[in-house]
Amino acid sequence: MSSGHCLVVGAGVSGLSSAIRLLENGWQVTIWSSDFSPNTTSDIAAALWYPFLSAPVEKTNIWGSETYDVLKVLSRFPQTGVSMTQTYEYFREEQSDPVWKESVDGFKRLNEGLPEKYVECFSFITPVIEMPIYLQWLMRRYEELGGNKRIKKVDSFSNISDEYSLIVNCTGLESRALVNDDEVYPVRGQIIRVKTNIKEMHLDQQISTLAYIVPRSSDMILGGVAQSNDWSLDSRIEDRDYILEKCTKLIPELKNAEIIEDMVGLRPGRSEVRLEKEILLGRPMIHNYGHGGSGVTLSWGCADDVVELANES
Ligand SMILES: Cc1cc2nc3c(=O)[nH]c(=O)nc-3n(C[C@H](O)[C@H](O)[C@H](O)COP(=O)(O)OP(=O)(O)OC[C@H]3O[C@@H](n4cnc5c(N)ncnc54)[C@H](O)[C@@H]3O)c2cc1C
Repeated sequence: MSSGHCLVVGAGVSGLSSAIRLLENGWQVTIWSSDFSPNTTSDIAAALWYPFLSAPVEKTNIWGSETYDVLKVLSRFPQTGVSMTQTYEYFREEQSDPVWKESVDGFKRLNEGLPEKYVECFSFITPVIEMPIYLQWLMRRYEELGGNKRIKKVDSFSNISDEYSLIVNCTGLESRALVNDDEVYPVRGQIIRVKTNIKEMHLDQQISTLAYIVPRSSDMILGGVAQSNDWSLDSRIEDRDYILEKCTKLIPELKNAEIIEDMVGLRPGRSEVRLEKEILLGRPMIHNYGHGGSGVTLSWGCADDVVELANES
């Protein structure tokens, strides 16, 4: 029996994950989105499971842990584009244990044989999510469950047909204008797609030295930068050089890697993820946006909370 007809606005990782969980829980679902994959920010994500530039930590820890478990199951099915990957995260200063230590498999500390200037390393297993494959798989799953979709830009949530008993807002950075939320801001990221054959992931996740080397099935992502309040979607040669310099410090053999392309995306930064329900003109509306650099990492945990709020309505 259907719980009602829900309109999900947005078809990035937040919209698709929420829509799938709503369908699985008896809702009829339609997605309206101005763009679909491959033209969303979610397509640009590197993407690895790692809580980064998102808050509040007491919630992101739970959402992240729930998402890790789902991605681990999905990694058993190659068509999802998810694979569990040996990862090394390096530090220039001594570290206490990360809050997410218990969420990941195989967490260990290493402090010998590290690249220059690094004094400590966390070794752990984490999912790499190959977004062009994963977003297509999410869409197939959504359609198999009976979801509908339409290319449509929403200018206002106030004049949406009352055929929908619930609206879920998953418009990411666009929520700044769409719901007048000044707390949302862009955190520009640039990455480089290269050809190499490295199988393990190497990270320095400190903003000032940010470097990530993410292996995928037929290429590799090198990152990155995190430039707050920068709206430019153009790639910059100085960012490319900076990323290559930082990554080759971690893995010198990347110096000769063949570059395929540069890619740029704007992370939906916010003081904290907005996941809450409001009543707009008598109708419930759930917001699920502002995931910063962790939209993929938090996606299934947030989707489960969307369903919980939806079922209360
Ligand atoms: C370089 C880079 C690397 C990243 N790496 C990682 C990573 O390794 N791990 C990780 O977890 N995260 C990573 N992120 C962050 C991640 O990409 C985002 O947090 C995530 O994509 C946000 O997803 P979303 O679905 O909320 O938003 P989006 O992907 O932006 O989707 C928003 C959707 O809403 C639609 N929309 C917007 N406005 C309207 C409107 N008015 N009407 C209708 N539809 C509308 C859009 O067309 C789109 O479909 C990275 C980001 C960047 C830029």
